[in-house]
Amino acid sequence: MLKVLQNLLDLQSVDTRLHIVRARLAALPKKTAEVDGRVAAAKAELDKSKAAQLATVKDRKKYELDVEQWKDRVRKYKDQTSQVKTNEAYKALQHEVQNAEDEIAKAEDRLLEQMVAGEEYDRRIKAAEKSLKEVEEIARGERAEIEKEKAAAEKELAEGNTERARATAEIPEDMMDHYDRIMKKHDNVALAEVRDEKCSACGMRIRPHVFQEMRRSTSHEMFHCETCTRILYYLEPAASAAAAGPVGDPSGSTPSHSEN
Ligand SMILES: [Zn+2]
Repeated sequence: MLKVLQNLLDLQSVDTRLHIVRARLAALPKKTAEVDGRVAAAKAELDKSKAAQLATVKDRKKYELDVEQWKDRVRKYKDQTSQVKTNEAYKALQHEVQNAEDEIAKAEDRLLEQMVAGEEYDRRIKAAEKSLKEVEEIARGERAEIEKEKAAAEKELAEGNTERARATAEIPEDMMDHYDRIMKKHDNVALAEVRDEKCSACGMRIRPHVFQEMRRSTSHEMFHCETCTRILYYLEPAASAAAAGPVGDPSGSTPSHSEN
């Protein structure tokens, strides 16, 4: 294989790794946001229960006041009863007393409802506090995990960049430009292995005379896929599995065509 082709393959290999590491790093903010989101949701649940509890306390005070006011009225009407002169006035007062007592009963019913609701909200607040604590505990672990992942990925990124600098030093500048252009155009893969006389990236058949030339050990030409323009390389089947590394088919399947 051409020296420059081997260098490009090494570069492709490190670039593939860099690509994966960058994707891992890029995914971390979303992971952090998800963790934050779970904590925020648990807090919101607690706040909701607390707000509901506060509303019941307010309502309870209002109904308590209602009960007191209606009781005052009952006392007042009963005081007046002893002073009325006519049967009609007496009946009217009795009616007022009855009405006030009905209102007291209603307010007391509502008060009871609010007390029951208050107990329910107490339970919900306790449950939400417990849940928040658990969610925060898990979030702490997850954040630590994310930090660890970030540190590891940044280390790999730095190492990859060093390796890349080493690999690119061996490659002529115009070849680098060419490589970068194809990389950008083709989803970070600039080289394609020829397998079964086809470009393994796009499946385009390689012309027989090109394939013959590629297989010649003394060949000094570089070939491109006519369709996807990727730089082509060919590894004899015996060398293919060992030398291809992470470039090419990640399943590591060996070419199915036989020699001769
Ligand atoms: Zn192609």
